[in-house]
Amino acid sequence: MSKKKRVVIALGGNALGNTLPEQMKAVKITAKAIVDLIEEGCEVVVAHGNGPQVGMVNNAMIALTHEDPQQPNTPLSVCVAMSQAYIGYDLQNALREEMLNRGIDNIPVATMITQVRVDPEDPAFKNPSKPIGKFVSQEQAKRMEENFHYIMKEDSGRGYRRVVASPKPVEIIEIGTIRNMVESGDLVIACGGGGIPVVRQGNHLKGASAVIDKDFASCLMAKELDADFLIILTAVEQVALNFGKPDETWLSDVSVEEAEKYIDQGHFAPGSMLPKVQAAVDFASSKPGRTALITLLEKSRDAVQGKTGTMFHL
Ligand code: ADP
Ligand code: MG
Repeated sequence: MSKKKRVVIALGGNALGNTLPEQMKAVKITAKAIVDLIEEGCEVVVAHGNGPQVGMVNNAMIALTHEDPQQPNTPLSVCVAMSQAYIGYDLQNALREEMLNRGIDNIPVATMITQVRVDPEDPAFKNPSKPIGKFVSQEQAKRMEENFHYIMKEDSGRGYRRVVASPKPVEIIEIGTIRNMVESGDLVIACGGGGIPVVRQGNHLKGASAVIDKDFASCLMAKELDADFLIILTAVEQVALNFGKPDETWLSDVSVEEAEKYIDQGHFAPGSMLPKVQAAVDFASSKPGRTALITLLEKSRDAVQGKTGTMFHL
């Protein structure tokens, strides 16, 4: 009998929606796509983004400081932890239910609160670029800078938003536990929102004011778990050259070498498709036999069967 293929799935924003009720609905569809892969014989590990959710939690915690002056502001690392728990709760319930509906009752599912170490010297800390939370006026932005020492930036004429650093993941602190759970056949949700960013201070792990890109964190987890596949599920079925232009060309199969050339030619938008392609290239080039796939959530089964998606290989 051939060994089960180990698959790390990175869920994008469309897998989770933007509000509590949207998420409740979205996870049902997401769970179907994931359980499809389990039925295909894959051993699945799930990671996910948290852009809207971490912004929502962050805003809620700011509102709390207005209501109750005794409440200090909540660090961003804690907001990421809250988002992991809340998303994991919905996702693990939806997965459990979908598996039971299909008669799969021997795969326990659980969420691992995951910390990911970053380098305090990462240049991203000197150049915070990732906008989170809601848009505010110039006066509000000034107040937030004074009260919370946030860095606020004007965002393309739409108002001011907080920007945070997006450093690269260096080490997944709980990887040993995640591996044990995967080895014993559990369905694990880990590295949510790219992981809770922490820096090492001796034996202490200190939360960092940052958000790690989930595409990079998922790639690191896939390498650490020696996965066969990294599947990045997003809002497009395939990756394109000249995306959105008349000469748009959809890619089904790309070598690492070709992908690197396309990256240099600027085909992938920073902050959306670029980190995905970079993560796919990083994973596919890390060891022979490792394959990365970028596709639409609903197409994951077809993509694993080689029918669609963009596949990256050595
Ligand atoms: P996620 O929440 O899944 O991370 P993003 O919005 O960050 O999703 O990234 C996916 C989006 O990237 C697609 O919906 C598409 O609009 C955009 N995109 C940018 N460049 C490309 C490209 N070259 N090919 C395909 N999609 C692209
Ligand atoms: Mg994204």
